[in-house]
Amino acid sequence: MARLTQADLVALNRAFDDRSPQELILWAKETFGERVAAMSSMQESGNVICHMLYSIPAKLPVVFVDTGVLFQETLDTRDRLMQHYGLEIETLTPTLTMAEQTAKHGILYLTPEGQKQCCEMRKSEPLDVVKGRYDALIGSLRRADGGRRGVCPILAIDSRLNCLRVNPLANFSDEQLEGYIHEHNVILNPLHKQGFSTIGCNRCTTPVLPGEPKRAGRWRHLGPWSVYCGINPTDLDPERSPAVDFPQDLVDRILGRQTDFMI
Ligand code: SF4
Repeated sequence: MARLTQADLVALNRAFDDRSPQELILWAKETFGERVAAMSSMQESGNVICHMLYSIPAKLPVVFVDTGVLFQETLDTRDRLMQHYGLEIETLTPTLTMAEQTAKHGILYLTPEGQKQCCEMRKSEPLDVVKGRYDALIGSLRRADGGRRGVCPILAIDSRLNCLRVNPLANFSDEQLEGYIHEHNVILNPLHKQGFSTIGCNRCTTPVLPGEPKRAGRWRHLGPWSVYCGINPTDLDPERSPAVDFPQDLVDRILGRQTDFMI
């Protein structure tokens, strides 16, 4: 096995800054073969990725974490994407229902510490089942969303899942996103039209008012507005994801090195 660090990806990330999202999706498919999937939480940028998978076409599986307390509109959006784009979307769920969790731990999401614990159990742990199955997960983080995502790399190390996170939309501006959605009539979560700029669990998400930051509707009861759930490692301290261990030939493929086949 060979170690791959975020520092090893600096030159590649720089080179990828000029690539289109579709080119980056195809690079991931070619590099990782059967061991790459996309992730979506059924928000607009994730739905754009789903549309790109459909239109390229790049037959890749999609994983979706259903925390058990999502809005019905979000679940309906998943079903529409499967039906209209022919996507294979795997739904991952927590071990405990919200009722079981509450009986055991109380209402966690009302305090900052409890929120971390709740998001860990209902978002991050369900995703752990894909560890070892995929070497890369295609996400939909965009720098235009600001906050900690303002500097998110196209390729990011995820040591927890021992995989690469690929963010083909990292450079997509708000205008490009809206233009793509309009041009292709992308299926959207109807909650966006009701003032939800981002969408998570029904316990912790509200619409935003004009002029508020995009993430003001997330964990509004906790404040400040920069809270993240932690399912995306680049939202956390980058030091927490220092390296992954991959087979040497995969590291060579990622970094575009020639393999020496001499016997
Ligand atoms: S967003 Fe709220 S309800 Fe959902 S997992 Fe996190 S703390 Fe729990």
